[in-house]
Amino acid sequence: SLSVRDVHLAFGANRVLRGVDLDVARGATACVIGPSGSGKSTLLRTINRLIEPDRGDVLLDGRSVRGDDPDALRQRVGMVFQQFNLFPHMSVLRNVTLALRRIRKLDADEAAALARDHLELVGLAAKADARPAHLSGGQQQRVAIARALALRPQVMLFDEATSALDPELVKGVLGLMAELSAGGMTMVVVTHEMGFAREVADTVAFMDRGVVLEAGEPAAIFERAAHPRLRRFLSQVL
Ligand code: ATP
Ligand code: MG
Repeated sequence: SLSVRDVHLAFGANRVLRGVDLDVARGATACVIGPSGSGKSTLLRTINRLIEPDRGDVLLDGRSVRGDDPDALRQRVGMVFQQFNLFPHMSVLRNVTLALRRIRKLDADEAAALARDHLELVGLAAKADARPAHLSGGQQQRVAIARALALRPQVMLFDEATSALDPELVKGVLGLMAELSAGGMTMVVVTHEMGFAREVADTVAFMDRGVVLEAGEPAAIFERAAHPRLRRFLSQVL
C-alpha cells in the first residue's frame, strides 16, 4: 500500500502542496485529476523522492521512504512520464536493460532475458533492436512502461502518460495500464482521461491548489461530487 501523509512543499513563496493525503491500498489504482498547476506532477515527484517534501511523509507498505537510498527507491517506485524519456541513441532493448544492470545489478544475459520478457508483455518483442525514433509514440510509451515494470516496482506512478500521444494511440496505452491495474499492480495515475478514471480507478482524488479536495469511488466523484469546485471542474472536462 501507499500512503501520502500531510505532504507540504513550497517552491519559494509558491506553496504547491499544502497538506496532501492520499491512501492507495495494495493492488488498487488511484486516479488523480485536477486543474493545471494544482500540484499533481509535484505530488508524484514527492512520492518517488525526486523532490523532498518540506513536511509530511510517504509510506510504502507502512514504511517511510524517507532516508531510503534513491536507487533502491527508484526501483520500488516506477514512474512513467508524459514524455517517454527513452535514450534515443540506444536500442529499445538497451533502454530496458540499462536500469536492470545498474540498479538490479543483473549481468548482461539476465538483463536481456528479463527485458525481452517485459517487451513481450507490452507487445513489443519484435522491436527490441530498433531505435526509439523508429517507434510510434504509443510504442515508445509501452517501452517506457516495460522499462519501469522490469524493475519490479511495488507501485507504479503515471504522469499524463497518454497526453503526448496521437489520439489513435491513446487507447492502446490506456489498455495496457488497465491490464496492469487488473493484474494487481498498485498504481497512482495522473490523468485527463476521465473515462479511464471512471472505469479503472478504485479511488479518484481531485486535487485543487495543493490539496486533495475530494476523494472517493469513481461513482461518488463523477455522479455525486460534493464540492462545487469539483463540480465545476467536471462540467468543463466531461
Ligand atoms: P499540469 O496539469 O499542467 O501538469 P500539475 O497539477 O501537474 O499541472 P505541477 O506541475 O505540480 O502542476 O505544478 C504545480 C505548481 O508548482 C505550478 O505553479 C508550477 O509552476 C510549480 N512548479 C512545479 N515544478 C516547479 C519547479 N521545479 N520549480 C518551481 N516551481 C515549480
Ligand atoms: Mg503535471
